[in-house]
Amino acid sequence: MERLNEAVQIIKNSSNIVAFTGAGVSTESNIPDFRSSNGLYNDIINEYEFPPEVMLSYSFFMEHTDIFFNYYRSKILYPDAEPNDCHLALAQLEKMGKLRVIITQNIDGLHQTASSCSVLELHGSVNRNYCMDCSNKYELDYMLESAGVIPLCDKCGGKVRPDVVLYEEILDQDILQAAVHNISKADTLIVLGTSLVVHPAAGLIKYYRGDNFILINKSTTPYDDMARIVIRGSAGQIMKKIMSELQAM
Ligand code: NAD
Ligand code: ZN
Repeated sequence: MERLNEAVQIIKNSSNIVAFTGAGVSTESNIPDFRSSNGLYNDIINEYEFPPEVMLSYSFFMEHTDIFFNYYRSKILYPDAEPNDCHLALAQLEKMGKLRVIITQNIDGLHQTASSCSVLELHGSVNRNYCMDCSNKYELDYMLESAGVIPLCDKCGGKVRPDVVLYEEILDQDILQAAVHNISKADTLIVLGTSLVVHPAAGLIKYYRGDNFILINKSTTPYDDMARIVIRGSAGQIMKKIMSELQAM
C-alpha cells in the first residue's frame, strides 16, 4: 500500500511519463503471454512441440508457412479481445497530459483500442498486414477470412504476412530510436507486464536517466533492483487503484 501511494505521488508530479508494456498487460484481456504458467511456453496443447520463438521465426515462416498460419491464427490472434483496466488507465494518463508515449512489445493493438494515441509498437501489429510481393496492405479481417491456410494477395497472388517482427528479424530502427529518445527524456518510467528478457526491447530500460522508475509485474525481472518502486501483482488491478487514488486527490 505504501509503495502504491508513493507511485501515486510520483505520477501526480509527472508530466512526461513513458510506459513500457509487455504481454502481461494483455493477460487480463485473455490473451496469453509467453512466460506465465498458462503462457504459450507452457502450452501443452502445442501439437507441434516447438517453442513459440521457433514457430514465430522468419525461417519457420518461410519453410512452413501453412503451419505458421495455423499456429498464428489459433494462438496469436484474438480479434475479440477488449482493452482492460491497465490499457484504459494508460490512455487516461495520456489524456490528463501526464503520459507522453507508450512503448509496447505487444502486437495486439489494444493500447490503440483503448484510445491511446501515442504508441510505439516495437514488434509491429497484427492489425497491419502486407503482400510480400507487391506490398499491398490488408486488415486483420483479411487474415481471418482468407480461404486457404495461407492468405494470398488478391492483386498479385503473393503471400500476405503480418507486419510483426518475427524472431530473426530486426526491429524498425526509426521506432527503436524514437523509443530511446523518449525513454531518455522521461521524468517517470512505468514498466508493466513484461519479463524484460526479450532483447533488444528489454535493454531500452537502461536509457532511462531519472529516479522514478516504477515496475509493476506479477513475477520478478532482471531489472527489479534498478526500480525505485516494485509493485507485484495484476497490472489492471494496480493501475485501477492508482487512477482512483489520483483522481481523488
Ligand atoms: P513474457 O510472457 O515474457 O512476460 C510477461 C510478464 O508479465 C511475466 O513476467 C508475467 O509475470 C507478467 N504478467 C502476466 N500477467 C500479468 C498481469 N496481469 N499483471 C502484471 N504482470 C503480469 O512477455 P514479454 O516480456 O512481453 O515478452 C514476450 C514477447 O512476446 C514480446 O516480445 C511480445 O511481442 C510477444 N507477445 C505479445 C503478446 C501480445 O501482443 N499480447 C502476447 C504474447 C507474446
Ligand atoms: Zn500482392
